[in-house]
Amino acid sequence: MPVPLAPPRTRFILHRMGELATATRNRAWAQIPDAETLREQAIRARDTVLADLPGHLARLEEAATAHNVTVHHAQSPEEANRLILETLRSLEAQVILHNHHPLLDELHLDQAARLQGIPITPLHPGDHLAWLAQTRPGHPVWPVGHLSVEEISDILHAQLRTPKTYDPDHLASMVRMPLRRTLLQVDAAVMVAHFAAAREGVLVFLDNDGHNASLLSLARHVVMLLSVELMAAHMEDVQHVIRVFALSAWGRPWPAYVSYVHSPAPAEEDGPRTLHLILVDHGRSRIIAQGFGQALRCIHCGACHTVCPVYQQIGAAGYGETAYSGPIGTVLNPLLLDTPEAQEQTFLCHHAGLCMQTCPLEIPFEQLRQAYRQAQAQNRRRGWGDRVLAPWRRRFGRRT
Ligand code: SF4
Repeated sequence: MPVPLAPPRTRFILHRMGELATATRNRAWAQIPDAETLREQAIRARDTVLADLPGHLARLEEAATAHNVTVHHAQSPEEANRLILETLRSLEAQVILHNHHPLLDELHLDQAARLQGIPITPLHPGDHLAWLAQTRPGHPVWPVGHLSVEEISDILHAQLRTPKTYDPDHLASMVRMPLRRTLLQVDAAVMVAHFAAAREGVLVFLDNDGHNASLLSLARHVVMLLSVELMAAHMEDVQHVIRVFALSAWGRPWPAYVSYVHSPAPAEEDGPRTLHLILVDHGRSRIIAQGFGQALRCIHCGACHTVCPVYQQIGAAGYGETAYSGPIGTVLNPLLLDTPEAQEQTFLCHHAGLCMQTCPLEIPFEQLRQAYRQAQAQNRRRGWGDRVLAPWRRRFGRRT
């Protein structure tokens, strides 16, 4: 199926965003004296977990439970959403906010919550704008990086009746002001952790504007989610991965805010009184068992997007309703969803190879896509053979 090009203005913005992000990232990495060692440490940290996902999950669950965190497991988006919404209902939470993470897109939490009549508002300003415009975020780190100030002004005017302005600072404050008021009334938060340390049972939240730290201080109940592969064996490995994330996502040596959570806060301190942790698998264990585990090294830094000529031409909308865009989307979406729409995404590539040079975790995109296509072709051949042989099998009552 042909994939439509993004409008010319979006293509221009994506191209410009790519140039700026790449320059910032390259400058930041160039200032790290031990850059190669750091990359290797991060890759080792990711591969250690992927080599024994059940073992690390068991350790994380044991440590978290010992810290009075209620742990749940979800095998599918439906199960994860059911657990989130049931927990929020049981807590009788009225004002609920969520943080920013691509896993929420994968789960379609916003739609599930709307259907159940439970309003959950995104606190991240970019996410919030995308939510107001009822569109999917365009990038894992900059959800509305593809929008012009004129488009943002139009969205705010249409949704919040704000006066039209093209001043970026004014626009930002028009998004932030009402969110701050809501934040002061928050009862519960749904928060996806960026990483977790399995041995210590610590969940890690990163951001540059403090929205995670604010939620963790003010929300009395927090439902945390973790995409199961985003663990590290212990805190030391988590530090390597955080550094790599900050360098590749934001072009800075360390995130502005890092929040560590391991247990509910005591009564006299700020912080959540109850903590739930939902461990979301949604096909990750199967992907590893099928030999595609390297795809799950991804930490969603978004660096590969900023160099991909295809993403810059089609934008996130070109990846349809699937959760992930850019080069990692062409690998993860088919593995996660196995739908015709997702399968075709393995062809959304110009073979420029820039993603493989840029990904700090050295994900072999091209090899993974080829291996996936070969596996699909084999399955089709097997399916064809099964169909042709079916009458003989029925007649002779045995496998041919
Ligand atoms: S594939 Fe690599 S570069 Fe792309 S988002 Fe994931 S970690 Fe970042």
